[in-house]
Amino acid sequence: MTDRQKLVLATRNHGKIRELRVILGESGLDVDLVGADDYPEVPDVKETGVTFAENALLKAHALAKATGLPAVADDSGLCVDVLGGAPGIFSARWAGRHGDDIANLELLLGQLSDIAQEHRAAHFACAAALALPDGTERVVEGRMPGSLAFAPRGANGFGYDPILIVEDDTRTAAELTPEEKNAISHRGKAFRGLAVVVGELLGG
Ligand code: IMP
Repeated sequence: MTDRQKLVLATRNHGKIRELRVILGESGLDVDLVGADDYPEVPDVKETGVTFAENALLKAHALAKATGLPAVADDSGLCVDVLGGAPGIFSARWAGRHGDDIANLELLLGQLSDIAQEHRAAHFACAAALALPDGTERVVEGRMPGSLAFAPRGANGFGYDPILIVEDDTRTAAELTPEEKNAISHRGKAFRGLAVVVGELLGG
């Protein structure tokens, strides 16, 4: 019996691991996806890139080098047209402190309080990167378009979900079920695209 191809995902978030596992399975790939938790000796990587793709590649290469396994990493954020794409790579720390979701979205709503609905276009963006131990790399990007609400709505999701009104819908991303969001999300699109690349490079 041959061992299944192992693939390691640069996250300690079990929801993200489950999501990619389902997508790989739906793509018919027989790979064993494990999380970075299984490799506690791997150091955290500084996100010194200036694009989502650069940061995803930095994390994927570091993990592939440290584990000797093909590695996947993603980087994502919210891009607001009228702010020239900000918060972008600064999404998680827009209000100064990393990961304070409420402070981040309240600051953003305050900054845009005078901006009319027709100028509030925004999208979530995600870059998913695959790096092999020999240095081979691929990146796939996905977007979830919408516009910004004036006040948060909905209890699902995380981050800026309560203020992104989904394109062609009246609901915010936080009013979608997890299944509805995965089907159209930036991360779902990027991961589904990357699953194709994993199949091409690793054969699954
Ligand atoms: P990370 O790529 O998981 O580090 O996410 C970066 C930040 O972007 C998060 O902390 C959120 O603020 C924001 N973000 C990324 N994806 C989403 C999403 O699907 N919904 C809401 N916020 C998101």
